[in-house]
Amino acid sequence: MREFFLISILVIQVVFGFSQNNKKTSIQDCLLKSDIVVEAEIVGNHSFWDLQHRNIYTAFELKIITPLAGYSDKNPKLLLKGGKVDDILQIVSTSPKLEIGDKGIFMLQKLTGQNKISINTDNFYLLHNSEYSFIFLGDENQRVESADLNGFIDDTLSEIERISGKKIKNNISAPVLKSAKSTQNITGFTPKTVTAGTGTTLTINGEGFGNLQEESLVWFTNADNPYQIFSNSDFKILSWSNTQIQMVVPPEAATGKIIVEIDGVKAESSEKLTVKYNVIQQNYKPVYLTNKNNKGGYTFHLHGNVSSFSGAKEIIETSIKNWICATSVPWEIGNTLNIEHSGGETLGQASYFLESAGSSDPNEYVLSEVDIVFSNAENWCFDNSNISQQQIDFASVVLHELGHAHLIGHVNEINDLMHFSLSNGKTRDVGQNNVLCGEYIVNKSLAYKSNYFETIKINNSTPPTFSVIKIHCIQ
Ligand SMILES: [Zn+2]
Repeated sequence: MREFFLISILVIQVVFGFSQNNKKTSIQDCLLKSDIVVEAEIVGNHSFWDLQHRNIYTAFELKIITPLAGYSDKNPKLLLKGGKVDDILQIVSTSPKLEIGDKGIFMLQKLTGQNKISINTDNFYLLHNSEYSFIFLGDENQRVESADLNGFIDDTLSEIERISGKKIKNNISAPVLKSAKSTQNITGFTPKTVTAGTGTTLTINGEGFGNLQEESLVWFTNADNPYQIFSNSDFKILSWSNTQIQMVVPPEAATGKIIVEIDGVKAESSEKLTVKYNVIQQNYKPVYLTNKNNKGGYTFHLHGNVSSFSGAKEIIETSIKNWICATSVPWEIGNTLNIEHSGGETLGQASYFLESAGSSDPNEYVLSEVDIVFSNAENWCFDNSNISQQQIDFASVVLHELGHAHLIGHVNEINDLMHFSLSNGKTRDVGQNNVLCGEYIVNKSLAYKSNYFETIKINNSTPPTFSVIKIHCIQ
């Protein structure tokens, strides 16, 4: 078992805050720089610890449907950080959530001999560092679908077809919401504003839903990628009748229209469901914070290399204190630790390690550790009172990643701290909804009693002193 929280800055590449204008160059660039580009289906997977026992990786075996660029004589294996080995589950905020049966375009770079992941590099690949490096094309279980409201994915796919000169077999067009042709109709739903990952019940009213659910589905906007809608036969449906569906708001549902699909035909609500916040859950079960450091909760250790970025250390410390002040989360800042670390792919990446709670329920987890890694290749702004349109606000990214360490998931509200992306020149603060979300998680954890893990303790002493504007100190 590993012991420590770690914040470090590493050399990794970033393509972020892109504009629509440079899209074509980026796809071209991505195709050229990738070793192979394939349309493929995931046919197998297995997870393992990396060579330093720091991170769990999952190797997804890809069955090539259409080779688009480069050449591989065997089925390539895509390595993604995150996975489950024994009783430890590592979840990585930036890794796409893939399952067997998923199809997509994969832009891959060969894993070199100089890696800290695996001695065996044979046919192992990583995703190219770009937001185009994986494009979801569908799955067998109708789990996710592109909602592609701006035709962005369509354009990207035609560009790939143009450059590669090949036809993509499972090319998707933006889904047609055939509300005109559908016999079902959503007339409304209550409540209009919900929270996700908290077991909230949603009632959808309408007509033509059928008396039984059978193959019918309800779809929501995906918090991790608002360009997608997602559904699952595992959704917790409480009741289903011809005029009413009652269900638990699924974790990772985000603000957007609700869709009911009957016989393959979708009908969407006229109004959007608003999701205020999204608590990270596993299989509809809360994840608990525990007293990991015997001082009430968790200790963050900053990597020594943070000091080489002027202002970064102060921002990280202030951000940690900011969250402590906002939600009473039992965190403290410990000494510096220089632990070797493998790189991430984006601005900021939070890896959280969940440990089986040891109860009779294998889906019950507690938070064991969080690793947060920032790119040092980014044009960071370490003083956001003076941010330029070219810079990325470091403080906003730190607060966001700490939000994940707090077990807060993404939301689809562009100005919210927990939106999945951050544009250049923009700043965000914690915000009232995330304060409520954090308090919800802290309260759940305070009520958690276990034979194996100690319950968190809240330090009621004076909040740490620090100065940032727009904090929400509610202690
Ligand atoms: Zn995130």
